[in-house]
This record gives sequence, C-alpha cells and structure tokens, in this order.
Amino acid sequence: MSPFDPKHRTTVGGQITIALYRIAQAIDYLLRERGKTTHLSPAQIQALLFLRHVRPGVRTIGGLAQRLGVTYATASGVADALEGKRLITRDPLPDDQRVVTLSLTDAGEVQASRLENVLDEIEAVINDLPGAEQAALLRATQAIVARLQQSGYVRVYEMCWGCQFFRRNAHPEDPRGPHHCAFVDAPLAEPVTYFECPDFVPSGEHREV
Ligand code: SF4
Repeated sequence: MSPFDPKHRTTVGGQITIALYRIAQAIDYLLRERGKTTHLSPAQIQALLFLRHVRPGVRTIGGLAQRLGVTYATASGVADALEGKRLITRDPLPDDQRVVTLSLTDAGEVQASRLENVLDEIEAVINDLPGAEQAALLRATQAIVARLQQSGYVRVYEMCWGCQFFRRNAHPEDPRGPHHCAFVDAPLAEPVTYFECPDFVPSGEHREV
C-alpha cells in the first residue's frame, strides 16, 4: 500500500508519512523562496548555515558532502559557487594538503546570520499547537529520526552537551579546555562544545557526564 495513493492512504502510518513528506516539501519551498531573494541555491543556503554551526574540524569539502548527502564533486561545486560570491574561502589543511577547509568570510557570516530564520514559519506553526501535542510530537519525531539514523538514512548533528562521549570538566586546569571528548580523545574548550558534531551519540541523559 502506497501512501501516495489517496485511495489507500487510510492507515495512521500512511497518513503521517505523507504529512512528513508535505512538511519536507514546505521546507524545500521555503529554502527555494529565500534563494530567490539572496541569489543562493538551497544547497548554498544549507552550506552557509552548516559552516556557521558545525565544529571546526568538519568544515571541509568532505564534511559538507556528508552534510548535504551529495558527492564530493557536488559539494566542491557548491563551495566553488560560494567562493565566487566571496561568502567563503577554501584553504588546504597545513598538515594534509589533500583536505580542503572552508571558512565563512565576514560577508558570509552576515549572510548566514540572515538565513537563520528561514524555517521560522514552520516553527511558528508548531508553536501554535497545544503544549501536550508539542511534547508528543517531539517524542515521536525524535523516535522516527533515531530509527532513520540507525538505518543510515540521516545523520544527526548536535552539540557536545548530551553526547555520550562528552566528559564535562574532565580536566578543569587544562589550558586547551576543561572538557574532554572521549571519541577523539581530545580536550574541548567551552565554545567548541556548542558547535554541531556529526559524531554525536545521545547519552540519554542531557548534560550529564
Ligand atoms: S563526539 Fe560527542 S563529545 Fe566528541 S566532539 Fe562530537 S559531540 Fe562533542
């Protein structure tokens, strides 16, 4: 039974699946509409927001390809376009010239900050729901995303707080940072803990070590 066939869209699961599909279409629409006024493609908009919030080590062509779910060549094309608009710079990593790092320029920072509200209309609709419905929706969507993540269909980027590899105040006197990441076995300065990370794994207990 296909949820795309209205005659068969009778199950709760099918109706919710098509509702999620429509929400994805609405998000795509909002990105394209914003792109018309900013002269950016949806992929370029996502790339700017990605570079603004992801942890520094992931700001690479490979990291962008992973985030957008595209090939390295496609991500490189997105970076080329943004570089041509003077919104980012590309530089080889000093330790490994094969890795190309991406950085927002000052103009890129300004543009990215203006894009932060691109999904405000979706959030406003959710905010209008009763509190109990919001709580149920949050639990349900988190469970859906977790299953999709296990299947490899989506990757979850979150900040360190709440990650099972995060060791809060593991070495408070360390000048490199008081916290520690057990995944990469490295200190974490406080500001770095607030960036998104693709290696995040939920601990089940928010903000616990
Ligand atoms: S793996 Fe977890 S603790 Fe380590 S940097 Fe990523 S989010 Fe932070």
